[in-house]
Amino acid sequence: MWKQGKRKSKNGKNGAASPASYLDLGADNLAKLRAMHEAQETLPRTESDLEDPPGYRSYALNNYRELPQVARLSDEAQFAIEVVSRVLPFKTNSYVVDELIDWDDVPNDPIFVLNFPQRDMLLPHHFEEMAALVRRGADKIEIDAAANRIRLELNPHPAGQMDHNVPTLGETRLTGMQHKYQETVLFFPSNGQTCHAYCTFCFRWPQFVGMDELKFAMRETELLVDYVRAHPEVSDVLFTGGDPMIMRTRNLARYIVPLLQACLPNLRTIRIGTKALGYWPYRFLTDEDADELLDLFRRVTAAGIHLAFMAHFNHPRELSTDAVKQAIARIRETGAEIRTQSPLMRNINDSPEAWSEMWREQVRLGCVPYYMFIARDTGAQHYFSVPLARAWEIFRDAYNSVSGIARTVRGPSMSADPGKVEVLGVTSIGGKKVFALRMLQGRNPDWAMRPFFAEYDPKAVWLSDLKPAFGEKRFFFEEELEKRYREDDDRRRVKPLVPVI
Ligand code: SF4
Repeated sequence: MWKQGKRKSKNGKNGAASPASYLDLGADNLAKLRAMHEAQETLPRTESDLEDPPGYRSYALNNYRELPQVARLSDEAQFAIEVVSRVLPFKTNSYVVDELIDWDDVPNDPIFVLNFPQRDMLLPHHFEEMAALVRRGADKIEIDAAANRIRLELNPHPAGQMDHNVPTLGETRLTGMQHKYQETVLFFPSNGQTCHAYCTFCFRWPQFVGMDELKFAMRETELLVDYVRAHPEVSDVLFTGGDPMIMRTRNLARYIVPLLQACLPNLRTIRIGTKALGYWPYRFLTDEDADELLDLFRRVTAAGIHLAFMAHFNHPRELSTDAVKQAIARIRETGAEIRTQSPLMRNINDSPEAWSEMWREQVRLGCVPYYMFIARDTGAQHYFSVPLARAWEIFRDAYNSVSGIARTVRGPSMSADPGKVEVLGVTSIGGKKVFALRMLQGRNPDWAMRPFFAEYDPKAVWLSDLKPAFGEKRFFFEEELEKRYREDDDRRRVKPLVPVI
């Protein structure tokens, strides 16, 4: 049993106390689903069913003013929190506030920006619209209506997630799954659709704003098992959210154990996308069921399945506390591998030093640097985005200052409609300045590793800003991508599917 050491906050004070088969679905489909829902009635249904672990306290719009540190914020900064958090999710917690944020550097502190909404995270006209409602004390119905209107203008589901990634099984649309790349399916457990704190940049922000029609989530593990069985090309299942580590171990086990028990020959890796190491490392140390959680991990690795932690670290400070170091050590002891990833974000980590320091420290702690992403075209992208040319410079400078062992990292990469597009660099060909790009993963697996070129544009921040170089009319993938999207649309029109929720 791990013993908790005395926590010390950044400000020198103590931290907060601190199977039925669905392959042949027919007329009885709905009855089966209903029976399954009823059998699962005992699962917690909402965030409020999840009790806070000891020492953890979350802060959101309703209670953040209870934090003594908030007195350090200007009236303007507090008003911005009130306004922006009506549209975008806001949640922080006792660990982040007491052990990660350097309050002497607020409002510029990167971890503060990572959790606390800032005025410019909304476009000026959106901010003014919401500010006017807050100032005149508009009621919740009016505020929610305006917030929902604004949200729909923020590209809530970039890269075709809702329309083109949701798989089907028989007549059933599996709305809690995504299958974009051949080998990997994403599963969104309905109990895991929140996080220990919310990143202001989160591209999954629609999961947290109470608009159910924008949300991915699913309870039926049996459908996941059947889907993986029916798709021998799938080798990896990625549990994502939200943060699956928000779940109690017994609930996580209800998703993972059936996968193990099914003995699926094609299943090689279970991935868990999580930021718990950054936001609540005590999940692996002192939470009541921390030991059971680690036993569950051991059960996965003992079954011969690779357990891959896809850990989000956005800033080197998240790796600095005793708690996170001990949590990493405990996870690694189970045989799990920790790979790390983050987007490159202006105002948070837009310097080569931040990245090289992160990668070096991650390697020292036994983690494997995996991805640097580009800020996605959703939510507050305008606030966080870094031009692609600058992103590549940051990546190159950071990469050049770490040893070969940290150069497992890939990027900068855009998770865009056709696939993951890596910016290889800026170069000159025949006297013309161009971006050299490469598809790392594609909707069509044959697209992977294909290089291509775009005209140099110093302001471009996303793939959609780029034009093909050398007078080409379209990028190599565009025609096929349009055809695939048209076919998806036609299929949906002809045969609406039964959603599973
Ligand atoms: S932890 Fe991940 S899912 Fe949760 S808010 Fe941050 S980026 Fe989004």
